[in-house]
Amino acid sequence: MDLDINGLRVLVTAGASGIGLSIARAFAAEGAKVHVCDIDRAALATLAVSHPDITQTHCDVADRPAVQYLFNEAIAQLGGLDALINNAGIAGPTARIEHIHPDEWDRCLDICLTGQFNCTRLAVPLLRESTNASIVNLSSMAGKVGFALRAPYAAAKWGVIGFTKSLSIELGPDNIRVNAILPGLVAGDRQRRVLETKAQQRGISFNEMETTAFSFTSIKEYVTPQQVADQILFLCSRRGRTISGQAISICGDTQMLG
Ligand code: NAD
Repeated sequence: MDLDINGLRVLVTAGASGIGLSIARAFAAEGAKVHVCDIDRAALATLAVSHPDITQTHCDVADRPAVQYLFNEAIAQLGGLDALINNAGIAGPTARIEHIHPDEWDRCLDICLTGQFNCTRLAVPLLRESTNASIVNLSSMAGKVGFALRAPYAAAKWGVIGFTKSLSIELGPDNIRVNAILPGLVAGDRQRRVLETKAQQRGISFNEMETTAFSFTSIKEYVTPQQVADQILFLCSRRGRTISGQAISICGDTQMLG
């Protein structure tokens, strides 16, 4: 399928590793112009070597002056904006609510939810100038079902859905579509860390925790970052131009999170 996104101007937050890197690479492979930000300088340096075509800025999405600087640099590189991929998000603490430090709560919400606001508010005036404008917000299956011991993350990711659906209505008249992606268990280091931490909390082995997690899915395999990227590319192509306000799960049909 020809997505016809050659030359699309795309900003991906947290694009130096993990799912964001897969998204950035996938857009670049289709001829899009891609700029990423990330908080990890070493990962950005590696990306500069492996993908010199993908431009970059060091930026923490929770830091508003840094996000302003990111947009100045991104627009200088891209010459405008067609797609904002609000991908940055951290797992946050895994603990019972009374043991969660308020600073950990704040940091999780600041990155996972407020970070999307920080970027979107600067992106919208630029997207209004585009003829194919999209925002894609990374939520999670934790934004659809309850997630014991991960209340800050779940609260932020449910917030992302409300943010997405509200903006879809608000920005539809400007021809800007806004969608959320809800990945399930995605293969990679982060998911391994998440399951390890949960296994420790419960006093069970990693394998037992992994088996428990997959007992709640219909498809018993990890989602790949490429599958997430494929869906996002489609949404940002003109083929997806009537899809907005959706919370799209890529999760092997996850019924609950263990
Ligand atoms: P990850 O933990 O692998 O991190 C990816 C990148 O984010 C890293 O390069 C890191 O340096 C960067 N980053 C962290 N904090 C940042 C900040 N404040 N500003 C800018 N960059 C920052 O994450 P991932 O697994 O690639 O997840 C990407 C998105 O997908 C997140 O929003 C996450 O919540 C969501 N998600 C992931 C999974 C999963 O299984 N991995 C499942 C559901 C949802």
